[in-house]
Amino acid sequence: MPSPAPTVLWFRRDLRLADNPALGEAQGEARATGSDVVGLYVLDPALWASAGPVRQAYLARSLHELDASTGGRLVVRHGDPREVVPAVCAEVGARSVHVAASYEPYGRRRDDAVEALLAERDVSLQRTGSPYAVAPGRVRTRGGTPFQVFTPFRSAWLEHGWRAPAPLPDDVAWATLASDGLPDAPEAGARLPAAGEAAALDRWHAFLADGLADYPTDRDRPDLTGTSYLSPALKWGEIHPRTLLADLASAVRSGSVPEDSAATYRSELAWREFHADVLFHHPGAVQRSLRTVVPEDAWATGATEDALLAAWCEGRTGYPMVDAGMRQLLGTGWMHNRVRMLVASFLVKDLHVRWQRGAEHFMAHLVDGDVSQNQLNWQWVAGTGRDAAPYFRIFNPVTQGLKFDPDGAYVREWVPELRGITGKAVHEPWKLPGGAPGYSERVVDHAVERKVSLEDFERARR
Ligand SMILES: Cc1cc2nc3c(=O)[nH]c(=O)nc-3n(C[C@H](O)[C@H](O)[C@H](O)COP(=O)(O)OP(=O)(O)OC[C@H]3O[C@@H](n4cnc5c(N)ncnc54)[C@H](O)[C@@H]3O)c2cc1C
Repeated sequence: MPSPAPTVLWFRRDLRLADNPALGEAQGEARATGSDVVGLYVLDPALWASAGPVRQAYLARSLHELDASTGGRLVVRHGDPREVVPAVCAEVGARSVHVAASYEPYGRRRDDAVEALLAERDVSLQRTGSPYAVAPGRVRTRGGTPFQVFTPFRSAWLEHGWRAPAPLPDDVAWATLASDGLPDAPEAGARLPAAGEAAALDRWHAFLADGLADYPTDRDRPDLTGTSYLSPALKWGEIHPRTLLADLASAVRSGSVPEDSAATYRSELAWREFHADVLFHHPGAVQRSLRTVVPEDAWATGATEDALLAAWCEGRTGYPMVDAGMRQLLGTGWMHNRVRMLVASFLVKDLHVRWQRGAEHFMAHLVDGDVSQNQLNWQWVAGTGRDAAPYFRIFNPVTQGLKFDPDGAYVREWVPELRGITGKAVHEPWKLPGGAPGYSERVVDHAVERKVSLEDFERARR
């Protein structure tokens, strides 16, 4: 008798075994037919190229970890998923492919195309779960329309609720199949965090025990370790937000964490879901501003734009807090959220460079670079998003530094030229007698450019 055909679990950005409902479905089906599960990862050249060395290096390490947790049975195939997935199904005679649904524009197009190609061979693509607690598109106003504003979205999202984490399947029978081999991790040029599901869970448990209680006060301080640093793990699905939300609820129930700390963290996860929802309804937001805030002639162009952008990218604008953030990005593939907001505001409102150029630099270097989170956060800062910061709210790079890096420790860590300056003075080195030798002059005067931006904004309103 021929052995029953295996079922395929196609991993994408869900590089974990725990709380993985698609794995549960695949295993359930394999058990029912007495067959195995092919754990497939398709190294799509289009996505690999756009990831850049930092995310490539992280992804390669994460795949090594996933492979180890399948007992070395992860099947990696290189090529376009539209060709590879149907070919693997034909090779093993699979009748179904299980995935967690994708919601970003590229993933949706790819999955629809793969689904149609599989259907021609009578194979089904089964979507179970997504990278979110609540799938984008599901939370709606009472009138059935998408939410435009975050706060009511969050209320409806909390009211909607989410499922409990999926149980960790025991003893998955992973099929053995030829693999093109795990990709080598390229030289990232940045100090990256440990990748993989076990590292993500360790980081989360350490944060639950030591960081969460102080999160509401410490999360805005780049000089402290006040945030969970889970964005790379969430980006790659090494941990699911459902797991985080369930653990938050039990930590509050057990009294180990105050409700307001849990609520603040939950709210940040809600922002992640809101941005995914906005992108789902407006796929064009990857490149297009959702609203216009200043006239076209307000933007820097040509050589001026290129020179300002280069100074910003390299962390030599002469504004210490901005430069520290940009160098943290290059050094670690990550930047603190407060500083991301500041450097983004500085690029758009002080240097008058379009948000798309900054978003592109972020995507080239962020280990957590995620199209929905990056593009929509940029649009939030630039004032062009659905529920965005008003254009006239312009971050002051000095006062942000004095408030959120009060002793200057963050600046001194990332801008070695300023290490000799003690205390708060590090945020305004140009005020020191003799300045700060070896450190960049300010490329613009914030007070002047702020006025220019406000005038541009008024012109657009007239
Ligand atoms: C211009 C700009 C670009 C950004 N690009 C990205 C990106 O490409 N990928 C990405 O994951 N985040 C992005 N963010 C959001 C945020 O900066 C990071 O998620 C956060 O810094 C990650 O650190 P953490 O895990 O320690 O956060 P924590 O403070 O521990 O928060 C926990 C989780 O909540 C979510 N979260 C927190 N803040 C935000 C936010 N503002 N928007 C959406 N989700 C949030 C993240 O998933 C985060 O991991 C961007 C923010 C800005 C202002």
